[in-house]
Amino acid sequence: MRRTEFKRGESWIVQSISAERAQKDYVCPGCTVMIAPGIPHVVAWHEEGLFGAERAVSDRRHWHTHCWRIH
Ligand SMILES: [Zn+2]
Repeated sequence: MRRTEFKRGESWIVQSISAERAQKDYVCPGCTVMIAPGIPHVVAWHEEGLFGAERAVSDRRHWHTHCWRIH
């Protein structure tokens, strides 16, 4: 479910969110369009943030699967 990806020289943890687990509205940073509840998507964050794990968690961003792929 959880994997590590390298993008633009940075290491990210990426986790897939299933339709059942997507229960809130999120704004996708890729296209700035709302990800509605019930839409499967991905959440990504820096593996080891410069400011520690706690900051890394608060930096989590929810992306459309497609937007993350082309980001
Ligand atoms: Zn998007």
